[in-house]
Amino acid sequence: MAYLDRYLRDRTLILLSNREPYEHVMRDGAVHVRQPAGGLVSALDPTMQQTHGTWVAWGSGNADHESADSEGRLMVPPDDPRYTLRRVWLDAEDIEHYYLGFANSVLWPICHMLIQHLEIRDEQWLRYRDVNRRFAEAVADEARRADGTPMVWIQDYHFALVAHELRNEIPDLFIHQFWHIPFPPLDILGLLPMDVLEAVLRGMLGNDLLEFHTRRYAMNFLSCVEYFMPDAEVRRASLSVEYDGREIFLGVFPISIDVELYENLASSPAADERVRELRERYAAGPNQLGVSVDRIDYTKGIPERLHALEVLWERYPELRGEFSVILVATPSRTDIDAYRQLEADVISTVAEINHRFGNPDWTPIVLIHENVSSELLASIYRAGDLCMVSSLQDGMNLVAKEFIACQTDERGVLVLSRFTGAAEAIEGAVLINPFNVDGFVEGIRTALAMPMEERRRRMQRMRVQLHDTTIFDWMGAILSRASELMTRNEPSPTSP
Ligand code: UDP
Repeated sequence: MAYLDRYLRDRTLILLSNREPYEHVMRDGAVHVRQPAGGLVSALDPTMQQTHGTWVAWGSGNADHESADSEGRLMVPPDDPRYTLRRVWLDAEDIEHYYLGFANSVLWPICHMLIQHLEIRDEQWLRYRDVNRRFAEAVADEARRADGTPMVWIQDYHFALVAHELRNEIPDLFIHQFWHIPFPPLDILGLLPMDVLEAVLRGMLGNDLLEFHTRRYAMNFLSCVEYFMPDAEVRRASLSVEYDGREIFLGVFPISIDVELYENLASSPAADERVRELRERYAAGPNQLGVSVDRIDYTKGIPERLHALEVLWERYPELRGEFSVILVATPSRTDIDAYRQLEADVISTVAEINHRFGNPDWTPIVLIHENVSSELLASIYRAGDLCMVSSLQDGMNLVAKEFIACQTDERGVLVLSRFTGAAEAIEGAVLINPFNVDGFVEGIRTALAMPMEERRRRMQRMRVQLHDTTIFDWMGAILSRASELMTRNEPSPTSP
């Protein structure tokens, strides 16, 4: 990670994310430290350990209070302290209205353009604004304490207003933000109440640099700014906006995964054994195995995928008994009605399909309805002949990239929704439109019938692309661009 020294030099990185990297929880009368699963935390934690900066996040563990000082600060990792974690406290109402409410029931559906799930309530917005303000105060406090020149890096849609709030507090602060989900076109964003819409855009324009996965999301943002913010001047050629006497730059940085980590997980001796067992059980001889992995979320197109599978087995009876699917569907955001409803639908649809086509010797869909470790996921990915990703909209979709990394035998075909950032970032998948069931069915059939030589050729090509664009390349590219802009903003030393 030599690049970190090169880009950050004497700067102090202050990271803001909703999830914290270390959570203290009380279990069996003792306090334990837990590192939440997830690609981003595991990629950012080593960066923070190396740079000794500060990470500001929601203190979500039930023993977080007693593990931090009166200001919510502590050094982490707890057994080898390297950087500061500053916890911000949220109460039950904050979680309900800021997190489950405005972030996950307004911004999430609107940015994914699934507006049938949109429900706007004043209370959610007011609480989101209030919580964003509190996070901004905590970040401002950390920026004032920093040893080096602070560089603030905000993660995601939970904090659309933070950059603007921070800018009011500390005008010269360098702030950038990665927007991990899609950004919608103006007709969709325009469904927000006008005051909310303007506050969100103004909030995001508080940054010096705004990072998106794809050029399309960046262009959508520019169109929204142009249409709704008459005081702003949009410059498409340079992907920038002139607003409030400042120049805000946009950047396109498709996120990725720790490719080597997944490759190693998929090719360990334990994985060899698991892959052999999975194939013996679900894809013996010439039979084939399809896999899919998602949180149960309405953006992922799980009902559309189940429908396509049903039509496939109906239309091509010869595939019954010869093609099985392992469907990993992990419970998610179960405090929100739409998610609970979807979960019930997925379970009952799988049961119906299995009842309709299955027999005592063959189960069409094996549902794994729990959180699966990355070790086991890597084996499932490697065992698959095809992986189906059918998101209706998805900022990137890391599952697609994990499948490619784990396909060390190069046997698998990626059947990928063209509405994912991954479809724009990687060439070599069989692209499908999840809204078009017949096309989806034929996409699966094309994958199943694809000769081994072509599978290898495509997979090798995708693996080369993935190796050139890992999570570390993503982070390096962002920090390099941020640091270049920061240098430009800094007053040049006065000549003697
Ligand atoms: N994942 C996991 N266990 C599960 C299901 C998913 O660890 O049981 C991980 C998966 O490996 C991937 C992430 O969750 O790293 C999902 O990321 P993606 O970008 O595909 O979708 P998101 O959930 O962020 O919308």
